[in-house]
Amino acid sequence: KYMTSAQVRQAYLDFFESKGHRIVPSSSLVPHNDPTLLFTNAGMNQFKDVFLGKEKRDYTRAASAQKVMRVSGKHNDLEEVGPSKRHHTFFEMLGNFSFGDYFKLDAIRYAWELITEVYQLPPDRLGVTIYEKDDESFQIWADEIGVDPRKIARLGAKDNFWQMAETGPCGPNTEIHFDRYPERGIDNVIPSFEADDGRFLEFWNLVFMQFNRTQPDPEDTGEFDELLPAPGVDTGLGLERMVSILQGADYNYETDLFMPIIETTQRLAGETDAQRDSHLIPYRVIADHVRAATFMIGDGVFPGAKGRDSICRLVIRRAARFGQKLGFNGPFMADVADTVIGIMGGHYTGLVDRRETILETITLEEERFHRTMERGVEELEAMLHDLPEGGKLDGDSAFYLKATLGLPIQVTQDIAQEMGYNIDMAGFNEAEERHSLVSGGGQAMGVIESGEAYANLLNNLQESGKLGKEGVNYNPYD
Ligand code: ATP
Ligand code: MG
Ligand code: MG
Ligand code: MG
Repeated sequence: KYMTSAQVRQAYLDFFESKGHRIVPSSSLVPHNDPTLLFTNAGMNQFKDVFLGKEKRDYTRAASAQKVMRVSGKHNDLEEVGPSKRHHTFFEMLGNFSFGDYFKLDAIRYAWELITEVYQLPPDRLGVTIYEKDDESFQIWADEIGVDPRKIARLGAKDNFWQMAETGPCGPNTEIHFDRYPERGIDNVIPSFEADDGRFLEFWNLVFMQFNRTQPDPEDTGEFDELLPAPGVDTGLGLERMVSILQGADYNYETDLFMPIIETTQRLAGETDAQRDSHLIPYRVIADHVRAATFMIGDGVFPGAKGRDSICRLVIRRAARFGQKLGFNGPFMADVADTVIGIMGGHYTGLVDRRETILETITLEEERFHRTMERGVEELEAMLHDLPEGGKLDGDSAFYLKATLGLPIQVTQDIAQEMGYNIDMAGFNEAEERHSLVSGGGQAMGVIESGEAYANLLNNLQESGKLGKEGVNYNPYD
């Protein structure tokens, strides 16, 4: 049954309200009082202290549609955006939560009722994964709900066991998947879950906070897990994925959440449909990143050199780089962001209030990006003029252009070639290597590094050349 994205979101909240849940508004993308987190990355973040028993609320069950960003730590999906059917940097996570109230049986029953009765997904298109040792969940899925055991995959801790940290609250989870190729039959589907081969689309994760882990347990022996006095439930359902299923879309981008954004970009680029289809990756990256920038600025994160701000700068400049593929050599994203506000402003009214700031900020950053690129090109040309005819530019200079002026190495290569010169690529790679070794460490982001999330963010960005000592390198592109 076709539902608009707004209807999908509202139906979720209405359903859980009818089951006695308090509907809680999304918290900001900027985590409140949690220096270990760069951005809110799950619906449960705002309830962390409630789960930990440090804070009491006047309700024991809640539901929300939460704005999240996954650009850091163990959840860094930046690289996936574009090629992936299902990954975004910014997305919405629908979630229902139980704080010592209901547990596995009701959580699974609610989920099944919502997806088969409200969203009306055919049960034969659904399959689930569980934690290999969680017989209780197996029994609920098989006996209470009636899912064919051939479509209940038992996976290891890596996929289906959740931990808040090395120690502390943890427990098994179960994930609900949509079968995209039912015609392949159900006799041998477990390997498809194990290999994540594209047949099953994960859309809902139900986490059961069951234990308190008293010591790190890398072997998953379960020896150090004590039962929590009040077990809880934390779920996350990706709105974009649910909408793609309900709208029969192959990619999340082919839904009412993204198509208008892509159409605005296409109109501005003046491309035909055929041209657009040959440039899908730039269109998708631009749509994703402009959405992310719009929401970040809406939550008070402005483009800058450090910390969160550098992520805002990164997504705008990355989108601008992809924009160059579509022929944009100046600012174009304000209209695109305006389309985002048009789609999302009905629910996230703060975007409408901050519309001017959002559009102006994005345009300014685009202008800065293009000026930087121009300066880089100027310096490169000057360097090349100093070389003998047909000479080779040394790797350190090419790296300097990239690290300090943000000139992507591909652009350097192109320009050098056009002018009849070469680049010492081995030297460039060496310089980059050296640089990433000396620039490790938290100060680069200008925020206290107090957790794995941060360490990984830095490593990932630096390894892939997206982050230099001074913050962002402007070529998050190769
Ligand atoms: P995947 O395996 O597809 O990367 P995940 O297991 O990392 O997803 P969870 O942490 O279980 O994701 O998050 C709960 C839900 O949020 C997922 O089932 C999915 O619907 C949605 N989701 C997760 N990551 C993304 C993303 N990058 N973009 C859009 N939706 C996402
Ligand atoms: Mg993931
Ligand atoms: Mg997964
Ligand atoms: Mg998951």
